[in-house]
Amino acid sequence: MKIKINQNFSKLNKNYLFSEINMRVKKFQAENPDVKIIRLGIGDVTLPIPELVTSAIKKAADEMGDIKTFRGYPPEYGYEFTKDSVRLYYERKNIKVNNDDIFISDGAKSDLGNIVDIFDNNEIYITNPVYPVYIDSNTMSGRNIHFLNGSRENDFKPMPTGLDMEPKIIYLCSPNNPTGSLYSYDELKNWVNYAKDSGSLIIYDNAYEAFISGNYPHSIFEIEGGRECAIEVSSLSKMAGFTGLRCGYTIIPRELSAAGVLINDLWRRRQATKFNGVSYPIQRAAEAALSIEGEKECQKAIQYYKKNAKLLADFFKSKDIYYTGGESSPYLWIKCPKKYNSWEFFDYILKNAYIVTTPGVGFGTMGEGYLRLTAFNTYENTLEAIERLKKII
Ligand code: PLP
Repeated sequence: MKIKINQNFSKLNKNYLFSEINMRVKKFQAENPDVKIIRLGIGDVTLPIPELVTSAIKKAADEMGDIKTFRGYPPEYGYEFTKDSVRLYYERKNIKVNNDDIFISDGAKSDLGNIVDIFDNNEIYITNPVYPVYIDSNTMSGRNIHFLNGSRENDFKPMPTGLDMEPKIIYLCSPNNPTGSLYSYDELKNWVNYAKDSGSLIIYDNAYEAFISGNYPHSIFEIEGGRECAIEVSSLSKMAGFTGLRCGYTIIPRELSAAGVLINDLWRRRQATKFNGVSYPIQRAAEAALSIEGEKECQKAIQYYKKNAKLLADFFKSKDIYYTGGESSPYLWIKCPKKYNSWEFFDYILKNAYIVTTPGVGFGTMGEGYLRLTAFNTYENTLEAIERLKKII
């Protein structure tokens, strides 16, 4: 063909991370068929969805099969009942959002990937290490990316200190994937002040909010001025086990504007053109999950994962190994012993403890020398993994 393709795709990192992990695990298992491998690498939930949520889907499916209650296309921005449930979920945490600020979607990944559509060629600032979607979506659209480096020195929480005052788009994720680190009120306030002073926009990924323990912000809109400089993207994937059902939401305060245009209106226009809404049964499921009773049920799974995370954190603490996460996050980010890089320590643990982890370098250059472990396996397997680790670390 003689058409021109988007050359920016050639600039994407070849993301071999999970295929490389699978290849190494498969090879090891083939050579050691009797070994029971424990997977602490996956970033997906494993517990089933609460009954109250599945029965909402079944009821909605029945409504679709009845002429009196059948529904066609959903509204592109979500049914009002779903937006109500998001608004009330925030209200229970004393955070004010309006239905007009809320856009229901099929998950945070789509919104984070698509939001680039509504912006021109801004300078993009992304933390490193990072969830790769922010980098890849900006690379695909030819944007200039700068990194905000996370390290042991800043506990993997980069701050705006030293940044110039040019307007920019900044991606923050707290609690963070992969590091599990979490911004405090003061730290987030610092970012909000910087964004406001420099005329920048923060895209705040709140996908792990439901894991937060203690007195930490559950939303950037808890911070004074947050509504004037930030978009928040969130998801029911980890909050309610919706990775297979698909539902999330983006909150764009109607206060946000640039060049005299409301950002909310731009996204509204974009979604109306390129998105046809989330299915009715899934929005009913989301409504159930976000209700008071639903949140309580969903928290049971989260507490289960957090118990696993705490077991892992206690182990690394007892070994005096530096780590972040494990308290308000399903992830633990651990420092490899000096003599190993990420892949070497991955191999050492696979071959000697039969545990699969994720090499930190797969999340960015600043992840070199670290490993990510997840709490999404069973309690029993997590205990066994720790017993195995005790023998080799
Ligand atoms: N944001 C972060 C930081 C994630 O880790 C994930 C999923 O792993 C997502 C967003 C995507 O969530 P969703 O399943 O809603 O697309």
